[in-house]
Amino acid sequence: MTRLIFLGAPGAGKGTQAKTLADLCAIPHISTGDILRNEVTQGTPLGVKAKSYQEGGELVPDHLILDMMRERLNQPDTKDGWILDGFPRNVTQAGFLDNLLKELDQKCDRVVNLDVPDEELVSRLLGRGRPDDTEEVIRRRLEVYREQTAPLIDYYRDRHQLVSIEGSRSMAEVTAAIQKAIDL
Ligand code: AMP
Repeated sequence: MTRLIFLGAPGAGKGTQAKTLADLCAIPHISTGDILRNEVTQGTPLGVKAKSYQEGGELVPDHLILDMMRERLNQPDTKDGWILDGFPRNVTQAGFLDNLLKELDQKCDRVVNLDVPDEELVSRLLGRGRPDDTEEVIRRRLEVYREQTAPLIDYYRDRHQLVSIEGSRSMAEVTAAIQKAIDL
């Protein structure tokens, strides 16, 4: 049973590593960014509400994300474990997740923080060419990360759940370092 939260700035490689680890452990990779992009593409009511925030590099309002995650973590495939990628994104969401996990009688094992220097983040992000990856939006997403998401590093460190991994290495080296750190 593995339950992990992945933290890291945009471009830190969090999505790739979360997906790789989830495949290795045969558990769902739950990426709020992917779910939202899919809702936007499908034009669902949630997608219509989320679109402008996502395209501008802002966080989608908490109440939308919280309802979405409550529903996702209640799906039967989550009973064997999960990797959360992109959630929680601020302290309010982290508090909500704490309560939701208590309700579900689940416990997160570790919070993996991928640490990559700022200058490397921008060049990685510009290189991947996602539609919400224009230079202006990238700059805004990094700001939002620093203001709202980075405080979660201390939040989880204080609770002794944090594992920090140096993320500016090859993909395989980072995967191996995470496996070693979480003892999989
Ligand atoms: P990501 O793919 O995780 O980089 O997320 C892309 C975008 O989706 C973000 O810039 C936000 O607009 C939105 N998003 C993803 N996860 C969340 C979340 N937990 N809370 C609010 N907005 C989110």
